[in-house]
Amino acid sequence: MEWVNLKVPAERLSFAEAVRQGLGQQQGLFFPDQIPQLTLDAAFWQQDMLARAEQVMGAWLAPELGQETVSALVRDAFRFAAPLQAVTERSHCLELFHGPTLAFKDFGARFLAQCLSRFAEDTPLTILTATSGDTGAAVADAFYGLDNIQVVVLYPDGGISPLQEKMFCTLGDNIHTLAVKGSFDDCQALVKGAFSDAPLKQRYGLTSANSINIARLLAQICYYFEALAQLPAAQREQAVFSVPSGNFGNLTAGLLAKAMGAPIKRFVAATNANDTVPRYLADGVWSPMPVHATLSNAMDVTSPNNWPRVEALCQRQGWPLSTLAAERVSEAETEQRLRQLHQQGYLSEPHAAVASEALERQLQPGEVGVFLGTAHPAKFQGAVEQVLEIELPLPPALAAVVDKQVLSETLGADAAAFEAYLHRTV
Ligand SMILES: *Cc1c(COP(=O)(O)O)cnc(C)c1O
Repeated sequence: MEWVNLKVPAERLSFAEAVRQGLGQQQGLFFPDQIPQLTLDAAFWQQDMLARAEQVMGAWLAPELGQETVSALVRDAFRFAAPLQAVTERSHCLELFHGPTLAFKDFGARFLAQCLSRFAEDTPLTILTATSGDTGAAVADAFYGLDNIQVVVLYPDGGISPLQEKMFCTLGDNIHTLAVKGSFDDCQALVKGAFSDAPLKQRYGLTSANSINIARLLAQICYYFEALAQLPAAQREQAVFSVPSGNFGNLTAGLLAKAMGAPIKRFVAATNANDTVPRYLADGVWSPMPVHATLSNAMDVTSPNNWPRVEALCQRQGWPLSTLAAERVSEAETEQRLRQLHQQGYLSEPHAAVASEALERQLQPGEVGVFLGTAHPAKFQGAVEQVLEIELPLPPALAAVVDKQVLSETLGADAAAFEAYLHRTV
Protein backbone atom coordinates (compact mmCIF):
# COMPACT_ATOMS: atom_id res chain seq x y z
CA MET A 1 0.00 0.00 0.00
CA GLU A 2 1.19 3.51 -0.75
CA TRP A 3 0.16 6.90 0.56
CA VAL A 4 -0.66 9.36 -2.19
CA ASN A 5 -0.56 13.16 -1.99
CA LEU A 6 -4.07 14.31 -2.90
CA LYS A 7 -2.70 17.46 -4.54
CA VAL A 8 0.42 16.03 -6.18
CA PRO A 9 -0.52 12.45 -7.10
CA ALA A 10 3.03 11.70 -8.27
CA GLU A 11 4.16 11.91 -4.64
CA ARG A 12 3.64 8.38 -3.27
CA LEU A 13 5.22 7.36 0.02
CA SER A 14 5.38 4.46 2.43
CA PHE A 15 3.46 4.82 5.71
CA ALA A 16 6.67 5.53 7.64
CA GLU A 17 7.67 8.28 5.20
CA ALA A 18 4.22 9.83 5.14
CA VAL A 19 4.05 9.90 8.94
CA ARG A 20 7.49 11.43 9.09
CA GLN A 21 6.53 14.14 6.56
CA GLY A 22 3.07 14.92 7.89
CA LEU A 23 2.05 17.07 4.95
CA GLY A 24 3.07 16.51 1.32
CA GLN A 25 4.24 18.86 -1.43
CA GLN A 26 2.01 21.90 -1.99
CA GLN A 27 0.49 21.17 1.40
CA GLY A 28 -1.27 18.12 -0.01
CA LEU A 29 -2.76 15.54 2.37
CA PHE A 30 -1.65 11.93 2.18
CA PHE A 31 -4.30 9.35 1.47
CA PRO A 32 -4.12 5.56 1.04
CA ASP A 33 -4.19 4.20 -2.51
CA GLN A 34 -6.20 1.19 -1.29
CA ILE A 35 -8.56 0.48 1.57
CA PRO A 36 -7.96 -2.90 3.22
CA GLN A 37 -11.04 -5.03 3.91
CA LEU A 38 -11.68 -6.84 7.18
CA THR A 39 -13.47 -10.13 7.72
CA LEU A 40 -16.07 -9.23 10.32
CA ASP A 41 -17.03 -12.63 11.69
CA ALA A 42 -18.20 -13.44 15.23
CA ALA A 43 -14.58 -13.94 16.36
CA PHE A 44 -13.70 -10.40 15.25
CA TRP A 45 -16.41 -8.89 17.41
CA GLN A 46 -15.74 -11.08 20.42
CA GLN A 47 -12.06 -10.29 20.99
CA ASP A 48 -10.92 -7.59 23.40
CA MET A 49 -10.25 -4.01 22.39
CA LEU A 50 -6.48 -4.34 22.02
CA ALA A 51 -6.66 -7.53 19.98
CA ARG A 52 -9.27 -5.95 17.71
CA ALA A 53 -7.20 -2.77 17.33
CA GLU A 54 -4.14 -4.88 16.43
CA GLN A 55 -6.18 -6.51 13.72
CA VAL A 56 -7.62 -3.23 12.40
CA MET A 57 -4.22 -1.49 12.34
CA GLY A 58 -2.56 -4.65 11.04
CA ALA A 59 -4.82 -4.57 7.98
CA TRP A 60 -3.27 -1.20 7.09
CA LEU A 61 0.25 -1.52 8.35
CA ALA A 62 1.37 -5.13 8.74
CA PRO A 63 2.46 -5.48 5.09
CA GLU A 64 4.95 -2.64 5.65
CA LEU A 65 5.88 -2.90 9.33
CA GLY A 66 5.12 -6.50 10.24
CA GLN A 67 2.31 -7.51 12.58
CA GLU A 68 4.64 -7.69 15.56
CA THR A 69 5.59 -4.02 15.29
CA VAL A 70 1.99 -3.00 14.69
CA SER A 71 0.88 -4.89 17.79
CA ALA A 72 3.59 -3.22 19.89
CA LEU A 73 2.55 0.24 18.62
CA VAL A 74 -1.08 -0.46 19.47
CA ARG A 75 -0.31 -1.81 22.94
CA ASP A 76 1.94 1.14 23.81
CA ALA A 77 -0.56 3.69 22.53
CA PHE A 78 -3.98 2.43 23.65
CA ARG A 79 -3.82 2.08 27.40
CA PHE A 80 -7.36 3.11 28.22
CA ALA A 81 -10.87 1.98 27.41
CA ALA A 82 -13.52 3.39 25.07
CA PRO A 83 -16.78 2.44 26.79
CA LEU A 84 -20.18 2.84 25.17
CA GLN A 85 -22.60 4.35 27.70
CA ALA A 86 -26.34 4.01 27.19
CA VAL A 87 -27.94 7.46 27.48
CA THR A 88 -31.46 6.75 26.26
CA GLU A 89 -33.11 3.61 24.92
CA ARG A 90 -31.82 4.30 21.44
CA SER A 91 -28.79 6.46 21.91
CA HIS A 92 -25.36 5.91 23.40
CA CYS A 93 -22.28 7.98 24.05
CA LEU A 94 -18.96 6.50 22.96
CA GLU A 95 -16.72 7.86 25.72
CA LEU A 96 -13.34 8.65 24.25
CA PHE A 97 -12.03 10.66 27.18
CA HIS A 98 -10.51 8.07 29.47
CA GLY A 99 -6.92 8.68 28.32
CA PRO A 100 -4.25 10.74 30.14
CA THR A 101 -5.45 14.15 28.87
CA LEU A 102 -9.15 13.31 28.97
CA ALA A 103 -9.97 13.77 25.29
CA PHE A 104 -10.22 11.51 22.27
CA LYS A 105 -7.06 13.06 20.87
CA ASP A 106 -5.04 10.84 23.22
CA PHE A 107 -5.71 7.89 20.90
CA GLY A 108 -4.21 9.54 17.83
CA ALA A 109 -1.47 11.51 19.56
CA ARG A 110 -0.11 8.53 21.45
CA PHE A 111 -0.16 6.30 18.37
CA LEU A 112 1.64 9.01 16.41
CA ALA A 113 4.26 9.49 19.13
CA GLN A 114 4.94 5.75 19.18
CA CYS A 115 5.25 5.71 15.37
CA LEU A 116 7.57 8.71 15.19
CA SER A 117 9.89 7.59 17.93
CA ARG A 118 10.30 4.31 16.03
CA PHE A 119 10.60 5.80 12.53
CA ALA A 120 12.81 8.80 13.32
CA GLU A 121 15.92 6.76 14.10
CA ASP A 122 18.66 9.24 15.05
CA THR A 123 17.40 12.33 13.22
CA PRO A 124 16.28 15.11 15.56
CA LEU A 125 12.64 16.03 14.96
CA THR A 126 10.53 19.06 15.77
CA ILE A 127 6.82 18.42 16.09
CA LEU A 128 4.87 21.50 15.05
CA THR A 129 1.21 21.59 15.89
CA ALA A 130 -1.62 24.09 16.04
CA THR A 131 -4.33 23.40 18.57
CA SER A 132 -7.81 24.64 19.30
CA GLY A 133 -7.42 23.11 22.77
CA ASP A 134 -7.25 19.39 23.18
CA THR A 135 -4.63 18.49 20.58
CA GLY A 136 -2.05 20.51 22.49
CA ALA A 137 -2.52 18.58 25.70
CA ALA A 138 -2.66 15.20 23.98
CA VAL A 139 0.43 15.86 21.84
CA ALA A 140 2.43 17.38 24.69
CA ASP A 141 1.61 14.45 26.98
CA ALA A 142 2.34 11.85 24.30
CA PHE A 143 5.77 13.32 23.41
CA TYR A 144 6.85 14.73 26.77
CA GLY A 145 10.36 13.59 27.63
CA LEU A 146 10.98 11.62 24.39
CA ASP A 147 14.64 11.83 23.29
CA ASN A 148 15.55 13.73 20.17
CA ILE A 149 12.06 15.21 19.70
CA GLN A 150 11.15 18.85 20.37
CA VAL A 151 7.50 19.91 20.38
CA VAL A 152 6.16 23.39 19.52
CA VAL A 153 2.45 23.93 20.14
CA LEU A 154 0.64 27.03 18.82
CA TYR A 155 -2.76 28.05 20.16
CA PRO A 156 -5.00 31.14 19.93
CA ASP A 157 -4.20 33.49 22.81
CA GLY A 158 -7.31 33.56 25.02
CA GLY A 159 -9.05 31.07 22.69
CA ILE A 160 -8.78 28.01 24.92
CA SER A 161 -9.95 27.41 28.47
CA PRO A 162 -7.53 28.28 31.32
CA LEU A 163 -7.58 24.63 32.34
CA GLN A 164 -6.73 23.45 28.85
CA GLU A 165 -3.82 25.88 28.86
CA LYS A 166 -2.58 24.55 32.19
CA MET A 167 -2.61 21.03 30.83
CA PHE A 168 0.04 21.52 28.18
CA CYS A 169 1.73 24.86 28.80
CA THR A 170 3.20 23.98 32.19
CA LEU A 171 5.36 20.99 31.23
CA GLY A 172 8.62 22.58 30.05
CA ASP A 173 11.50 20.28 29.01
CA ASN A 174 11.00 19.44 25.30
CA ILE A 175 7.52 21.01 25.17
CA HIS A 176 7.44 24.65 23.90
CA THR A 177 4.13 26.53 23.81
CA LEU A 178 3.17 29.68 21.93
CA ALA A 179 0.07 31.83 22.49
CA VAL A 180 -0.66 33.42 19.09
CA LYS A 181 -2.55 36.70 18.89
CA GLY A 182 -5.13 35.43 16.43
CA SER A 183 -7.58 32.60 15.75
CA PHE A 184 -6.99 28.87 15.48
CA ASP A 185 -7.02 29.27 11.70
CA ASP A 186 -4.16 31.81 12.05
CA CYS A 187 -2.20 29.23 14.06
CA GLN A 188 -2.89 26.63 11.43
CA ALA A 189 -1.72 29.03 8.71
CA LEU A 190 1.59 29.63 10.53
CA VAL A 191 2.17 25.89 10.78
CA LYS A 192 1.31 25.31 7.13
CA GLY A 193 3.59 28.19 6.12
CA ALA A 194 6.52 26.72 8.03
CA PHE A 195 6.00 23.33 6.40
CA SER A 196 6.00 24.86 2.93
CA ASP A 197 9.37 26.54 3.66
CA ALA A 198 11.69 23.71 2.55
CA PRO A 199 14.94 25.01 4.13
CA LEU A 200 13.18 25.64 7.44
CA LYS A 201 11.52 22.24 7.35
CA GLN A 202 14.84 20.55 6.63
CA ARG A 203 16.80 22.49 9.24
CA TYR A 204 14.53 21.58 12.15
CA GLY A 205 13.19 18.26 10.92
CA LEU A 206 9.69 19.74 11.09
CA THR A 207 6.92 17.19 11.41
CA SER A 208 3.20 17.65 11.96
CA ALA A 209 1.19 16.17 14.79
CA ASN A 210 -2.14 17.64 13.69
CA SER A 211 -5.00 15.50 12.52
CA ILE A 212 -3.47 15.96 9.08
CA ASN A 213 -0.98 13.28 10.11
CA ILE A 214 -2.22 9.93 8.89
CA ALA A 215 -0.97 8.06 11.96
CA ARG A 216 -3.50 9.94 14.08
CA LEU A 217 -6.25 9.33 11.61
CA LEU A 218 -5.60 5.60 11.41
CA ALA A 219 -5.58 5.22 15.20
CA GLN A 220 -9.02 6.79 15.38
CA ILE A 221 -10.52 4.15 13.10
CA CYS A 222 -10.18 1.60 15.89
CA TYR A 223 -12.77 3.02 18.25
CA TYR A 224 -15.57 2.96 15.67
CA PHE A 225 -15.15 -0.81 15.63
CA GLU A 226 -15.08 -0.71 19.44
CA ALA A 227 -18.44 1.04 19.57
CA LEU A 228 -19.97 -1.49 17.18
CA ALA A 229 -18.54 -4.39 19.17
CA GLN A 230 -20.29 -3.11 22.28
CA LEU A 231 -23.68 -2.90 20.58
CA PRO A 232 -25.88 -6.00 20.47
CA ALA A 233 -25.11 -7.83 17.20
CA ALA A 234 -28.67 -7.33 15.96
CA GLN A 235 -28.31 -3.52 16.19
CA ARG A 236 -24.93 -3.11 14.50
CA GLU A 237 -26.26 -2.58 11.01
CA GLN A 238 -28.61 0.15 12.23
CA ALA A 239 -25.91 2.25 13.85
CA VAL A 240 -25.81 5.97 13.08
CA PHE A 241 -22.74 7.86 14.32
CA SER A 242 -22.92 11.54 15.15
CA VAL A 243 -19.49 13.14 15.14
CA PRO A 244 -18.82 16.53 16.74
CA SER A 245 -16.60 18.07 14.09
CA GLY A 246 -13.95 20.76 13.86
CA ASN A 247 -11.18 19.70 11.51
CA PHE A 248 -13.17 16.61 10.48
CA GLY A 249 -10.42 14.14 11.36
CA ASN A 250 -12.78 12.11 13.50
CA LEU A 251 -15.38 11.91 10.76
CA THR A 252 -12.70 10.93 8.22
CA ALA A 253 -11.65 8.08 10.51
CA GLY A 254 -15.25 6.92 10.79
CA LEU A 255 -15.66 6.94 7.03
CA LEU A 256 -12.45 4.93 6.70
CA ALA A 257 -13.86 2.38 9.18
CA LYS A 258 -16.99 2.10 7.04
CA ALA A 259 -14.88 1.76 3.89
CA MET A 260 -13.04 -1.17 5.55
CA GLY A 261 -16.38 -2.89 6.02
CA ALA A 262 -17.68 -1.60 9.35
CA PRO A 263 -21.47 -1.98 9.12
CA ILE A 264 -22.17 1.67 9.92
CA LYS A 265 -25.47 2.78 8.44
CA ARG A 266 -24.65 6.47 8.17
CA PHE A 267 -22.94 9.48 9.71
CA VAL A 268 -24.10 12.83 10.99
CA ALA A 269 -21.50 15.61 10.84
CA ALA A 270 -22.34 17.89 13.77
CA THR A 271 -20.94 21.40 13.96
CA ASN A 272 -21.46 24.43 16.13
CA ALA A 273 -22.03 27.88 14.62
CA ASN A 274 -18.85 27.38 12.59
CA ASP A 275 -20.90 25.67 9.93
CA THR A 276 -18.86 25.74 6.72
CA VAL A 277 -19.61 22.06 6.05
CA PRO A 278 -23.37 22.00 6.76
CA ARG A 279 -23.78 25.03 4.49
CA TYR A 280 -21.59 23.43 1.81
CA LEU A 281 -23.58 20.19 1.88
CA ALA A 282 -26.81 22.16 1.59
CA ASP A 283 -25.90 24.52 -1.24
CA GLY A 284 -22.62 23.28 -2.74
CA VAL A 285 -20.79 26.54 -2.02
CA TRP A 286 -17.60 26.42 0.06
CA SER A 287 -17.53 29.73 1.87
CA PRO A 288 -15.80 29.80 5.26
CA MET A 289 -16.92 32.71 7.43
CA PRO A 290 -14.84 34.37 10.15
CA VAL A 291 -14.40 32.13 13.19
CA HIS A 292 -17.11 32.29 15.82
CA ALA A 293 -16.20 31.60 19.47
CA THR A 294 -18.52 28.97 21.01
CA LEU A 295 -18.86 26.76 24.09
CA SER A 296 -17.55 23.85 22.04
CA ASN A 297 -14.33 25.68 21.27
CA ALA A 298 -12.38 22.67 19.96
CA MET A 299 -14.80 22.83 17.03
CA ASP A 300 -14.31 26.53 16.32
CA VAL A 301 -12.83 25.86 12.89
CA THR A 302 -14.10 27.33 9.63
CA SER A 303 -11.55 25.81 7.22
CA PRO A 304 -11.50 22.15 8.28
CA ASN A 305 -8.23 20.72 7.06
CA ASN A 306 -9.40 17.12 6.62
CA TRP A 307 -12.25 17.95 4.28
CA PRO A 308 -10.35 17.02 1.08
CA ARG A 309 -9.96 13.53 2.52
CA VAL A 310 -13.69 13.23 3.14
CA GLU A 311 -14.37 14.16 -0.48
CA ALA A 312 -11.65 11.90 -1.85
CA LEU A 313 -12.95 8.93 0.12
CA CYS A 314 -16.60 9.47 -0.77
CA GLN A 315 -15.64 9.79 -4.41
CA ARG A 316 -13.58 6.61 -4.35
CA GLN A 317 -16.30 4.62 -2.59
CA GLY A 318 -19.06 5.99 -4.82
CA TRP A 319 -20.83 7.52 -1.83
CA PRO A 320 -22.60 10.72 -2.90
CA LEU A 321 -21.81 13.56 -0.49
CA SER A 322 -25.55 13.86 0.00
CA THR A 323 -25.45 10.62 2.04
CA LEU A 324 -23.63 12.58 4.73
CA ALA A 325 -26.06 14.29 7.04
CA ALA A 326 -24.89 17.54 8.58
CA GLU A 327 -26.36 19.65 11.36
CA ARG A 328 -25.48 23.04 12.75
CA VAL A 329 -26.21 23.40 16.45
CA SER A 330 -26.53 26.83 18.01
CA GLU A 331 -25.28 27.86 21.43
CA ALA A 332 -28.80 27.89 22.89
CA GLU A 333 -29.48 24.42 21.50
CA THR A 334 -26.17 23.16 22.90
CA GLU A 335 -27.04 24.42 26.38
CA GLN A 336 -30.53 23.01 26.13
CA ARG A 337 -29.22 19.59 25.11
CA LEU A 338 -26.63 19.61 27.89
CA ARG A 339 -29.41 20.23 30.43
CA GLN A 340 -31.59 17.55 28.91
CA LEU A 341 -28.78 14.99 29.00
CA HIS A 342 -28.21 15.89 32.63
CA GLN A 343 -31.89 15.34 33.38
CA GLN A 344 -31.62 11.95 31.71
CA GLY A 345 -28.87 11.14 34.18
CA TYR A 346 -25.92 11.73 31.87
CA LEU A 347 -23.33 14.38 32.65
CA SER A 348 -21.80 15.63 29.40
CA GLU A 349 -19.99 18.66 27.97
CA PRO A 350 -20.60 21.04 25.05
CA HIS A 351 -18.91 19.08 22.21
CA ALA A 352 -20.77 15.85 22.91
CA ALA A 353 -23.93 17.88 23.45
CA VAL A 354 -23.63 19.27 19.91
CA ALA A 355 -23.32 15.72 18.59
CA SER A 356 -26.21 14.47 20.73
CA GLU A 357 -28.48 17.26 19.53
CA ALA A 358 -27.61 16.58 15.87
CA LEU A 359 -28.24 12.87 16.43
CA GLU A 360 -31.67 13.42 17.97
CA ARG A 361 -32.68 15.50 14.96
CA GLN A 362 -31.55 12.82 12.53
CA LEU A 363 -32.34 9.49 14.14
CA GLN A 364 -35.07 7.50 12.34
CA PRO A 365 -37.26 4.75 13.82
CA GLY A 366 -35.35 1.46 14.01
CA GLU A 367 -31.94 3.13 14.06
CA VAL A 368 -29.57 3.12 17.01
CA GLY A 369 -27.55 6.25 17.64
CA VAL A 370 -24.01 6.73 18.87
CA PHE A 371 -22.66 10.20 19.55
CA LEU A 372 -18.97 10.62 20.26
CA GLY A 373 -18.01 11.87 23.71
CA THR A 374 -14.83 13.65 22.71
CA ALA A 375 -13.84 15.24 26.05
CA HIS A 376 -14.32 14.72 29.77
CA PRO A 377 -16.92 17.15 31.21
CA ALA A 378 -14.35 18.50 33.69
CA LYS A 379 -12.21 19.73 30.81
CA PHE A 380 -14.95 22.27 30.17
CA GLN A 381 -15.68 22.80 33.82
CA GLY A 382 -16.60 26.49 33.56
CA ALA A 383 -19.16 26.01 30.79
CA VAL A 384 -20.64 22.86 32.29
CA GLU A 385 -20.98 24.38 35.78
CA GLN A 386 -22.57 27.50 34.41
CA VAL A 387 -25.10 25.78 32.16
CA LEU A 388 -26.06 23.03 34.62
CA GLU A 389 -25.73 25.13 37.77
CA ILE A 390 -23.77 22.40 39.48
CA GLU A 391 -20.30 22.07 40.95
CA LEU A 392 -17.98 19.79 39.09
CA PRO A 393 -14.99 18.36 40.92
CA LEU A 394 -11.74 18.13 38.95
CA PRO A 395 -10.42 14.66 38.16
CA PRO A 396 -6.83 14.01 39.37
CA ALA A 397 -5.25 14.63 35.93
CA LEU A 398 -6.60 18.20 36.02
CA ALA A 399 -6.29 18.91 39.72
CA ALA A 400 -2.55 18.22 39.43
CA VAL A 401 -1.90 21.09 37.00
CA VAL A 402 -4.14 23.89 38.28
CA ASP A 403 -1.48 25.57 40.38
CA LYS A 404 1.38 25.19 37.92
CA GLN A 405 2.78 28.17 36.07
CA VAL A 406 2.01 28.70 32.37
CA LEU A 407 5.34 28.84 30.49
CA SER A 408 4.05 30.05 27.09
CA GLU A 409 5.44 32.92 25.05
CA THR A 410 3.03 35.27 23.26
CA LEU A 411 3.49 36.03 19.56
CA GLY A 412 1.70 37.95 16.78
CA ALA A 413 0.21 35.92 13.92
CA ASP A 414 3.23 36.69 11.78
CA ALA A 415 5.36 34.23 9.80
CA ALA A 416 8.65 36.12 10.28
CA ALA A 417 8.16 36.38 14.04
CA PHE A 418 7.36 32.68 14.13
CA GLU A 419 10.52 31.80 12.25
CA ALA A 420 12.57 33.91 14.67
CA TYR A 421 10.91 32.07 17.56
CA LEU A 422 11.93 28.71 16.07
CA HIS A 423 15.52 29.93 15.68
CA ARG A 424 15.85 30.92 19.29
CA THR A 425 13.85 28.08 20.86
CA VAL A 426 14.42 24.80 19.04
C1 LIG B 1 -10.61 18.18 18.41
C2 LIG B 1 -11.94 18.05 19.04
C3 LIG B 1 -13.09 17.93 18.27
C4 LIG B 1 -13.07 18.01 16.76
O1 LIG B 1 -12.48 16.88 16.17
P1 LIG B 1 -12.02 16.91 14.64
O2 LIG B 1 -11.41 15.59 14.40
O3 LIG B 1 -11.05 18.04 14.52
O4 LIG B 1 -13.23 17.15 13.83
C5 LIG B 1 -14.30 17.73 18.92
N1 LIG B 1 -14.37 17.70 20.27
C6 LIG B 1 -13.29 17.84 21.04
C7 LIG B 1 -13.44 17.83 22.52
C8 LIG B 1 -12.03 18.01 20.45
O5 LIG B 1 -10.96 18.15 21.22
